[in-house]
Amino acid sequence: MIGEQSRTVAARVAAILNGGAAEPVEIDELLSAADTAYYDEDAPIIDDASYDQLAELAKALTGQAHQVLGEVSSELVAIPHAYPTLSLQKAYSAEEIHRFKESAARTLGLAGGPDALALSIEPKIDGLTLVLQYAGGRLVRALTRGNGKIGEDVTHNVRGLAGVPSEIPERERTLYIRGEAYLPLSRFAALHAAGEDVATARNTAAGDLRRKTGSQSANAGGINRAQAHGITFLAYGIEGWELSDRLPTQPEVDGCLALWGFTVPEYRVASEGPGPTEQFDQPATETGRAIADLLDTVEGVDFAMDGLVLKVANRDWQRRLGASEKTPRWAIAYKRLGMEYEATVRSVQWQVGRVGQVTPVLICDPIDMDGAQVTHYTAHHAAFYQALGAGIGAHIIVTRAGDVIPKVLRLAIGQEPDLHLPVPDHCPSCGTPLHLRNEKVLECRNAACPPKLRKALDHYAARDNMDIEGLGKEVIEALVSGGHLHSPVDLYRLTADDLAAVPLANGQLYGAVRAGKLVTGIENSRAKPFSTLLHALGAPGVGYPECRAVAQQFSLAELLALSAEPTGTLQAALTALHGIGPATADAFATYMVENAPWISTLAEAGVQVEREQLPQAAEGPLTGKTFVVTGSLEMGSREDVEAWIRAHGGSVSSGVSSQTNYLVAGVKPGGSKVKAAAKHGVPTISEQDLRALVEGGTS
Ligand SMILES: [Zn+2]
Repeated sequence: MIGEQSRTVAARVAAILNGGAAEPVEIDELLSAADTAYYDEDAPIIDDASYDQLAELAKALTGQAHQVLGEVSSELVAIPHAYPTLSLQKAYSAEEIHRFKESAARTLGLAGGPDALALSIEPKIDGLTLVLQYAGGRLVRALTRGNGKIGEDVTHNVRGLAGVPSEIPERERTLYIRGEAYLPLSRFAALHAAGEDVATARNTAAGDLRRKTGSQSANAGGINRAQAHGITFLAYGIEGWELSDRLPTQPEVDGCLALWGFTVPEYRVASEGPGPTEQFDQPATETGRAIADLLDTVEGVDFAMDGLVLKVANRDWQRRLGASEKTPRWAIAYKRLGMEYEATVRSVQWQVGRVGQVTPVLICDPIDMDGAQVTHYTAHHAAFYQALGAGIGAHIIVTRAGDVIPKVLRLAIGQEPDLHLPVPDHCPSCGTPLHLRNEKVLECRNAACPPKLRKALDHYAARDNMDIEGLGKEVIEALVSGGHLHSPVDLYRLTADDLAAVPLANGQLYGAVRAGKLVTGIENSRAKPFSTLLHALGAPGVGYPECRAVAQQFSLAELLALSAEPTGTLQAALTALHGIGPATADAFATYMVENAPWISTLAEAGVQVEREQLPQAAEGPLTGKTFVVTGSLEMGSREDVEAWIRAHGGSVSSGVSSQTNYLVAGVKPGGSKVKAAAKHGVPTISEQDLRALVEGGTS
């Protein structure tokens, strides 16, 4: 999941830097995702140059610099940590927690396996990590996490905070107490109500704690702003002491911290692991029950929570497990996907997408989600929006569940839906009457609708499509608003002279140098394979495998001829291809019909429109057999398994049909595929069976 998200972020950043359109709020979210990866996870997902360019762009668009929370500020004194403050590995499912336990049990050589591993489970607070140094029993220093190796000295703001004792009874050793400082949500609400300029609880806490020394003297009574705001510290760890003898378990560490006057988190201990298929809303094991119970107990706590931390309870085992370069091996953060937040609707925008879908977007007061400031939530489509009934001022429950675009889930408890919310009947951008598809989705079918055209051009020119270097957001905007482009095919009619004279939004002309480069970029795109062209056209929900299947079977002229036949002809022809389901065929055919007027002129533009050669299939024991792969397999990712099948002569399709010879099912197979296999009488085989087909050579 993480990998996928990183790739999405990296791909979006590349597209935006390549000139793709983006809202400032999205850019800020991407920067925050990059910050988290860099500072909290030590696993950068974009390179420094891209980051800087994106930050520049954000500044140019909003006039404000992007604020990084984890960064070491130049205004505070930077001090190396005595013990690196590593960030935690993250788990998003019971299965991942189980894998973590298995790995730990293996390293420790536990005879009882993962079930013999007791875990201590506590809430993960979304605050600012602090390390408090006590020497001779006195608080001598407080550092922020910083970049994990070097922190900022914030001692002046931490002394006197709620939950921070100035002295502890242990005087012999220098100890480092770890914990999280946070602004209680009730205090945040009070500040907000009092009209203070506070964006989020986390930002306020970070801002208060990272104020410079001088600023506190302005406060009366010797109380600094962090104290005045009620910033609170919660302790969860001790470092600098071989504790195994005196405090053999994590709960005893928490008990010791509490005894010394620290506030400690609520926790649970569980001594047997969840099975891989467990869901925490229906827990069947002790760990599952402990997690569910803890989540119940801390429901409505006075701090923002962004998951749970699971620690191997035995301190000696913690020590033996140690840490990799980046993360400890004895603890893991369980991030609940789909953390839910409440937001208040301030306005509604109807945005026109690349293929003309007109999507309701609810705009709310900013919320801090995993460090990103979020204000826009998609309400999916007109039917969802009307059923939701969230008018201006409504309280809604929102989430960002693994995907980049945050969405609205439902009305908050106690809110009455307004079932008479209006939806537009004309396109908000071009005024064309809208169509309602499948009684759900509003669509603008004007191919020249400006936002739709801009996004279509952006998609067409993207690196993994026609890869037109130089066709950035700025020039697309100028060409569309200047009436030079009505569809991607118009690109091929532009001359360098035309382009050089195009005025940009900043009043300057595009100029001969850039025009020359862009013309070369457009010229190069003519050589792109036909399947790439089909993908660049951007029919909704039609991916590369489908485009390749179509391109190997039909030329553009044949597709256009079929689309001119009675409705359903092209759909039927496409559905007959391997790997193309009815929904994809339908989306593709609809797109061809609607865009036929300009698509039919593509051949004249000199792009590749002829049928592609089938790649020479490998000969092997699986030749002539078609496989569908589902679930997770030991051999590797689904792509790996599919490549393996192809290498042995087999072919692979994405959906089960009567043409399929075998369904290869791993752990957690897709239910719909298993059902389809049963329906079509397709045998379901295991990974071992698949290997046997190759090794036995008698398929
Ligand atoms: Zn429109």
